Amino acid sequence: MGRSLLLELDYHLNPLSRLGVRRYSAVIPFFSTIFVYTISEILANQVFHNPESVGLYVIFISIALVMYFSFRDAIRGGFVASFTSIGYFLYIIWSRNYEGRRLVTSLETTLILGAVFFLMAFVIGWLKEKIDSSIEREADEKRRLQTIIQQLPVGVLIADKYGRILESNQQVEVLLGKKIPIGYVIGKESIVKVTQGGKEFVPSKSPLLRAINSGKTIVGEEFLIEHDDGKNKYLQISASPIHNKKGQIIAAASIMTDITQQKEMQDLKDEFLGIASHELKTPLTSIKGYAQILERIIEEMGNKKAKQYINKTHRYIDRLSSLIGDLLDVSKLQAGKLEFNYEEYDFDAMIEEAISSFQAFTDQYEIVKKGSSNKKVIGDSSRTEQVVTNLLSNALKYSPGAKKVIVSVKNGNNQVTVGVQDFGIGIARNKQKEIFKRFYRVEESVEKISGLGIGLYISAEIIHRQGGKIWVESREGEGSTFYFSLPIKASKKRT
Ligand code: ADP
Repeated sequence: MGRSLLLELDYHLNPLSRLGVRRYSAVIPFFSTIFVYTISEILANQVFHNPESVGLYVIFISIALVMYFSFRDAIRGGFVASFTSIGYFLYIIWSRNYEGRRLVTSLETTLILGAVFFLMAFVIGWLKEKIDSSIEREADEKRRLQTIIQQLPVGVLIADKYGRILESNQQVEVLLGKKIPIGYVIGKESIVKVTQGGKEFVPSKSPLLRAINSGKTIVGEEFLIEHDDGKNKYLQISASPIHNKKGQIIAAASIMTDITQQKEMQDLKDEFLGIASHELKTPLTSIKGYAQILERIIEEMGNKKAKQYINKTHRYIDRLSSLIGDLLDVSKLQAGKLEFNYEEYDFDAMIEEAISSFQAFTDQYEIVKKGSSNKKVIGDSSRTEQVVTNLLSNALKYSPGAKKVIVSVKNGNNQVTVGVQDFGIGIARNKQKEIFKRFYRVEESVEKISGLGIGLYISAEIIHRQGGKIWVESREGEGSTFYFSLPIKASKKRT
């Protein structure tokens, strides 16, 4: 219904457009062949007025009819066409009163042709049935997959290798606030308003296209979608290429997950962290001030025990203040407000300063410096010192019982590289990338050693923002070496 006449004709006449349709008729081949042979009779008797004019051509017509109907209506169609053709041959023999040798040869020919027809009808018809059922199976499979895709609680987009959308489920519409029509080519313009990391989204860099072009899987990139109704959504989008048997990329699929709620919770948490650490810092500064006054008074009094206590108080105040400082840094980093002051500074002097102020706190460990950079570096000296201090603090914290920490400094290739090596608990290989993430702590160390899991996150951000790299080499039970390298002239990078 609703199909145009041409399509309807094509469906009935062109056997190719019936591929995958397992509806085989016996009536149509029967009447069609009878119709053709009736025309042949009318031509011979009424037009040429010579019944003998029905010649060899009838054999070719019947072969064509058997082939056509075997393909159109499978074995059933082929057999019906074979029957009617043989029937017509017998009718010719009977109606023309063939006799003697002629009768025998004609009957023989009819018999042979009949065998050929049935064999042909069987082979072609059987092939046709096989093709139809495999097409039908494929279509069923596709429908099953489509139903699953439509029901998924995540958005799914599938595009061919040219970036043309082949499949898009209802959830995509919910998440994007707009429908992406099938056939739409991604990469030219954006249907919706999207930003990624605060920057305008470049359509040609969409995860789906990148998966098609690079053949790599894109994992969990975050996007902000601005809906027309003002309700924005944060989406996490992944995409991966689809290969054919030969390993060529033929399409790609992309999955969108709504992470708006998580994001809002995280924002709330970050905001709270920012306010709380800021509010804690103010009274702490006063406590530190009063402790300093107290220290002077105690010194004047000359009470040794009291001096010992006030020194300890100082140490704990410093620890608390560094913890609060770290928390403040995290919330500034989240808000993109961590400031950097670029200046030229003596790299070795900065390292030595960090080591000596650390060594002052510990008798157990010897912090050994190896090598030097002999370089003046442009970057944020105090932020970089913060990184060294953090790595040293971890080296001591995570090597209970050890005696030594080695700080090595090298230069080369317009960059300086620092390694902080400890002989402590080490880090399992599969955790070595994770430890630079915010609030991540290796479970084994959580039980024994206290910490917030933000030191390495801040360190990594500080190094990346100055155009450098940070990494770790470690073996469980043997110790770890944390490295960072910085360009001699820091390039200012946005996070
Ligand atoms: P914190 O030390 O406060 O937990 P960090 O961000 O500095 O936070 O470190 C994250 C995690 O990485 C730590 O919890 C610890 O499990 C692991 N880690 C860091 N430095 C070392 C080290 N030198 N040796 C072993 N594990 C370490």
